[in-house]
Amino acid sequence: ILSELNELEKLKMVSDMAASISHEVRNPLTVTKGFLQLLQDPSIPFDKKDFYLRLSLNELERAEIIISDYLTFAKPSLENVVDLNVAKELEYVVKVVTPYATMRNVTINVNTSENVKVAGERQKFHQCLINLAKNGIEAMPEQGQLTLTLSETETEAVITIEDTGIGMSEDHLKRLATPYYSTKTSGTGLGTMVVYSIIKAMNGQIQVESKENVGTRFILSIPKVT
Ligand code: ADP
Ligand code: MG
Repeated sequence: ILSELNELEKLKMVSDMAASISHEVRNPLTVTKGFLQLLQDPSIPFDKKDFYLRLSLNELERAEIIISDYLTFAKPSLENVVDLNVAKELEYVVKVVTPYATMRNVTINVNTSENVKVAGERQKFHQCLINLAKNGIEAMPEQGQLTLTLSETETEAVITIEDTGIGMSEDHLKRLATPYYSTKTSGTGLGTMVVYSIIKAMNGQIQVESKENVGTRFILSIPKVT
């Protein structure tokens, strides 16, 4: 019964999130639709036309960002849990975020450990690590170091994602992972929420250490499969 409740809880979490995301995406779409309707009028002055087009593009871009922070949850699969080789998945994630890091003068360092396995959905695990890496990179506006480390205890895989960025105050830390909390101009405030849901679904835990103007370290502890 306990594990069934757990599944129900997970289902509810996913459907709550799906509802909230579709709400968030609907807003920019509604706005864009309105502008496109206005643009159907052939007598519309040029400057207005330009204004509507620009706003529409902004809104569509916003919808795109929301979807990409949330991507894996668009897949309703809850049952694709497999054994994941953490080192391999980290390697994949590094590949995905390297262009973004390079663009921002961020160097990525990786320290891994072989043969550490956890159970989870590959896509979601990727999404979780990508969201954390992206946040780390975005916290370093000039340049910096993003360090991903994998180690293990007797029972857990321990992944740390560490940046040398702007850090967070106590107050910021408290609000982390509340939906829509973002300090960025075009942030969604959904990335860390997605991270927490995924790690929770994997029965793992998250610790955050952060110091303003020094950096931030996310520590994920996830039960190993042996
Ligand atoms: P977004 O990245 O769209 O703003 P997130 O949920 O990913 O939304 O993050 C929420 C907020 O948490 C960010 O806007 C930022 O203020 C803070 N944050 C998250 N990760 C870090 C980090 N590594 N360093 C500093 N601040 C961070
Ligand atoms: Mg983010």
